Amino acid sequence: MAKSYTLMTPGPVPLPPDVLESLALPMEHHRTPEFEATLARVWQGLKQVFVTDEAVFFHTSTGSGAMESAVVNTLSPGDEVLCVVSGKFGERWAEICDAYGIKVQRLNIEWGKSVTVAQVKAALDANANIKAVLTQACETSTGVLHPIRELAAITAQTPAILMIDAITALGAIAMPMDEWGLDVVIGGSQKAFMLPTGLSFISFSKKAWKLTETSRLPKYYFDLRKEKKANSAGDTFFSSAVMHVRALDVVLKNHLTHGLSSIIDRIQVLSKATIAAAEILGLEIFPEVPSPSLSVLVLPAAVDSQKVRAQMESEYQITVMGGQDQLKGKVIRIGNMGYIRNQDLLKTLDALVACIRKQKPDFSSDEKLKQAKKRALEILTSAPNGASQAN
Ligand SMILES: *Cc1c(COP(=O)(O)O)cnc(C)c1O
Repeated sequence: MAKSYTLMTPGPVPLPPDVLESLALPMEHHRTPEFEATLARVWQGLKQVFVTDEAVFFHTSTGSGAMESAVVNTLSPGDEVLCVVSGKFGERWAEICDAYGIKVQRLNIEWGKSVTVAQVKAALDANANIKAVLTQACETSTGVLHPIRELAAITAQTPAILMIDAITALGAIAMPMDEWGLDVVIGGSQKAFMLPTGLSFISFSKKAWKLTETSRLPKYYFDLRKEKKANSAGDTFFSSAVMHVRALDVVLKNHLTHGLSSIIDRIQVLSKATIAAAEILGLEIFPEVPSPSLSVLVLPAAVDSQKVRAQMESEYQITVMGGQDQLKGKVIRIGNMGYIRNQDLLKTLDALVACIRKQKPDFSSDEKLKQAKKRALEILTSAPNGASQAN
């Protein structure tokens, strides 16, 4: 048995018991009638999560695979794009485009800040050749939320499509794809979907589909026109990740039975509880507009967050994330997605304070910690729990 850790990271996330049970079932062939029925249900359920009438596809890849798929299916060599770079994942968009010979115009945003509509509008006004605007909905390295709905209103008036890496947003915030006019929406299994790492989800608007007809970037595994053809016949282009898809079926069933907002509501409540506790403890929230999917807390200047992270894991068996690049050593990132029980958050607060005190013994007070946990629990228990959520 692997050592068991309480997973409080912004992906991968702890899995609900019914997902674990589903993953323990025997392997089945992807061409059985039973599995084909599962596939049909899952495609339908995904459309309800994306809130779209368009087809939703999945790739057997992590989320980054769907980001690559979005690029190779819509663009051609030499095309120009605008990449919103507000952290590590914005860098990833730019790197994928660089790898395929796309001309990248970077819109660099100070870490922790949201991109503004005016910034994107100015960039589009200045360069009529921009074919696509690539951004995150939530930039997981800083915890910031970007105004994707407002950005979509801008790109809608131009030939450019808006590509959203919504890997830590889909299922954590309401973001109806068709209503908001989002052209490409991407999700990942190990985030709000509460599944193991290894599936990615993607859907295209009609405007984005139009580009697939002229796209000349090389593609084979991620060719969505071929995937669409296979899906129309009830199959996947290649072998299906049967175990993952069956687990997805379980999640979607819960999600759809308990109301579409059940997972979103639980994530938002966990976010509110963590933020309220952090404020009582005197810890600042890093992003200007925090995404509910994760809480990014700034530690006191004298405290190295990498050490805190490592000690929480080795001494308390709780895994949280530290900061990356310019935030390395400065912040702790706590995930609010997945099967997180109330007691998991309370234990995390205890461990966080204990590990900060190893470097700064006068940090906060026992009384404040007690208050912080009490407030967090009040928030957690005042809201009805969603779907297969823990409590
Ligand atoms: C997790 C994540 C990804 C995908 O990472 P993979 O390791 O490829 O699954 C992409 N973008 C964001 C914003 C993420 O949080």
